[in-house]
Amino acid sequence: ELDAAFFVRWLTAAAEAVDREADQLTELDSPIGDADHGGNMRRGFFAVRDALGSEPPGTPGAVLMLAGRTLVSTVGGASGPLYGTLLRRTGKALGDAGQVSEKELAGALRTGVDAVAQLAGASEGDKTMLDALLPAVGALSEGHGLAAASTAAERGAEATTPLQARKGRASYLGERSIGHQDPGATSSALLLAALAQTAA
Ligand code: ADP
Ligand code: MG
Ligand code: MG
Repeated sequence: ELDAAFFVRWLTAAAEAVDREADQLTELDSPIGDADHGGNMRRGFFAVRDALGSEPPGTPGAVLMLAGRTLVSTVGGASGPLYGTLLRRTGKALGDAGQVSEKELAGALRTGVDAVAQLAGASEGDKTMLDALLPAVGALSEGHGLAAASTAAERGAEATTPLQARKGRASYLGERSIGHQDPGATSSALLLAALAQTAA
């Protein structure tokens, strides 16, 4: 069973991973974006860590909803509203339970990722964060667990390299977006890796 403290540990680990990989995320966002993804993610997840540190909510759902609201209000780029929606909708789906099972988390993440896809107007193969998030929730739906979801996200991120972007800034480049890994899919894989490590 996963309690509020578990979700605070996950998001704290996510902030550390984002901080460690920020330069790499910005480097990926240079050829096919505006070179700010590392900075956007670092600013957002540092704010999440601070918000959770000063007044940690008492339930998993409330932790995720606070984190999502914080991302929306601190990240200007496209990734802020998208990750904000992911966490808010996942948190809302968890309701007000004090503890949730891994299976309940899997179902809630499915709801959150579907909400991101709807907001983004994107689906798998568009070379976005959804190319990591959708395979991850797919693995969870099949009952494979968080470690397998993390691996699926990592593979999905790597598989964005040969794709031509159909959404977001990278899509403005047309065929020139081919040959570069998507920064948002890469940060999504980082978030899933932090989740799997926190649960391990
Ligand atoms: P911005 O593009 O506004 O500078 P970021 O650099 O922080 O924002 O985030 C870029 C990432 O956001 C992309 O790599 C992509 O994964 C994701 N993204 C952008 N637009 C969309 C969209 N419409 N649908 C899904 N993901 C998107
Ligand atoms: Mg950018
Ligand atoms: Mg930007």
